[in-house]
Amino acid sequence: MNKKPIYVTRPFLPPLEDFLPYLKEIWESHILTNEGPFHKQLEIALGEYLGVKYVSLFSNGTLALITALQALKITGEVITTPFSFVATTHALMWNNMKPVFVDIEPDTCNIDPEKIEAAITPSTTAILPVHVYGNPCKYIRIKEIADKYGLKVLYDAAHSFGVKEAGISLVSFGDLSVLSFHATKVFNTFEGGAIICHDQKTKEHIYQLRNFGIINETTVVTSGINAKMNELQAAMGLLQLNFIEKSIGKRKLVTETYRFILGNIPGITILKEQPDVRYNYAYFPIFINANLFGKTRNEVYEELKAQNIFSRRYFYPLISQFPIYSGLESACKGRMPVAERVTEEVLCLPIYPDLEMPVVDEICGIIKDFRK
Ligand SMILES: *Cc1c(COP(=O)(O)O)cnc(C)c1O
Repeated sequence: MNKKPIYVTRPFLPPLEDFLPYLKEIWESHILTNEGPFHKQLEIALGEYLGVKYVSLFSNGTLALITALQALKITGEVITTPFSFVATTHALMWNNMKPVFVDIEPDTCNIDPEKIEAAITPSTTAILPVHVYGNPCKYIRIKEIADKYGLKVLYDAAHSFGVKEAGISLVSFGDLSVLSFHATKVFNTFEGGAIICHDQKTKEHIYQLRNFGIINETTVVTSGINAKMNELQAAMGLLQLNFIEKSIGKRKLVTETYRFILGNIPGITILKEQPDVRYNYAYFPIFINANLFGKTRNEVYEELKAQNIFSRRYFYPLISQFPIYSGLESACKGRMPVAERVTEEVLCLPIYPDLEMPVVDEICGIIKDFRK
């Protein structure tokens, strides 16, 4: 058994020495927040890395989502997925919007575009899809539907940092896309987030919403919130960017090892990689069919835990199964058969840049040996 516990992720930190010069600059300037120099540099650097023009930094991804919904002036009903982290729909609730859940596709775990139209009502104003595990949504089809019905599209791209399809960054899709830089994500600023938009005017509007609605010393134009990224976070982001390619490369190796060892075990399904996608390998989900595997997902989860390995059931329960949402009509049992099955089968195995290969082998060994 592992002496030290292995968690599903371990936040990446650059060498401490490399962070000290940034700290020194902050201490010398006394600029701690409010669009300081590191904040400005990080917006530019992220724009270059992600291949987008307009990046607005936030203190975290959830506030970025809440603000993005306000920036798009969304109201009423929003079509979204039950297979995500609760922040996706909590952001709707904080804006007095009603989530309407639609089932997912089995091959990507993303919202099934072919089920969106049936969920549209006169109150629908937007679609809020999530690129789950960094797998691209069917954004071309989603845009077609949105355009047909005059709906806005906001992507929760919290898992999608650095992911590209046909050379185009996933965060460039939708009216707006939102990133999270939380400690557990592929790219972290301890906590943090961003909204990606398509023009300067929208960016300025987002800035107002992010900073109390203040325009200048004497003018406040809207009841904005405080969701600014501070200089410590921004400095960490600048430093993290130096390591991101190497981190993603190491995650890829972990992924390939898992795929190689677990790829042919009856009862275990692994999502297929789509062609022409550059992944970020944020998560490594497997799907356990209890009939074929001989053990349930929960039994595998408990067995790993007993060996000091802490996998996570992302996403279980479904958002629509939490009591605060389960009363909604769209959340009714039986309405989303794919999501209801996938949530019982999914298990995300540990993955992070410095996860050692012998540990990956060991995790796979435990799973293989546990099969009946
Ligand atoms: C992490 C995450 C968020 C929230 O981001 P925070 O930065 O933690 O607020 C939102 N949606 C999804 C899908 C996430 O995984």
